[in-house]
Amino acid sequence: MHYCQRCDDPIAMAPEGDLAVCPDCGNTEPARRLPLLVVTGASGSGKTTVFPHLVRQLPECLVFDGDWLIGPFERACEFGEVDWPALRDAWLSVAHGAAQSGRHTVLLAPFTPEQLDGLAGRRWTTDIHFAVLDCADGVRTERLEARPPWRERNIERHLAFAKYLRETIETVVRTDDAPPEESARRVTAWVRRRIG
Ligand SMILES: [Zn+2]
Repeated sequence: MHYCQRCDDPIAMAPEGDLAVCPDCGNTEPARRLPLLVVTGASGSGKTTVFPHLVRQLPECLVFDGDWLIGPFERACEFGEVDWPALRDAWLSVAHGAAQSGRHTVLLAPFTPEQLDGLAGRRWTTDIHFAVLDCADGVRTERLEARPPWRERNIERHLAFAKYLRETIETVVRTDDAPPEESARRVTAWVRRRIG
């Protein structure tokens, strides 16, 4: 992400506080780092429904829907097969870019903490906080069945992923006991606690 502009070879710089530092020549450049907030959830959790409310409620952050990079990645990747680790890494780059303007990124995407650890961009954010949107299995099944026919609907797989997220992520925000504005308010409160 940061390569030294002074060295003859493309040397990857390393983060040090809010700087990127070249390990070879000591050259530095600004590289502010901020926490990233990921709102995860299996398909049918309500990410897309909550999104516009979160945008309105969190004007101090940049709120993104992780699906927005799928189309460009399908076109960029060989045979239209999305390289998912590369797509996740691209979102880490976006978040690092937003941090240069002092803005926190809130990303709605079905990612897990393990999937972000070890990516090239990981060291250019500080903490990554996770919350999971969740609902009862019956509600999720109804939501998935109500989608247009062109949408993928491997319901068993989504139920199993939802179970995994529910059991491994501490902050759970329900989307089946309140309107989307209220679910978004819960997420907003969590974001503000995390970013101070
Ligand atoms: Zn250098």
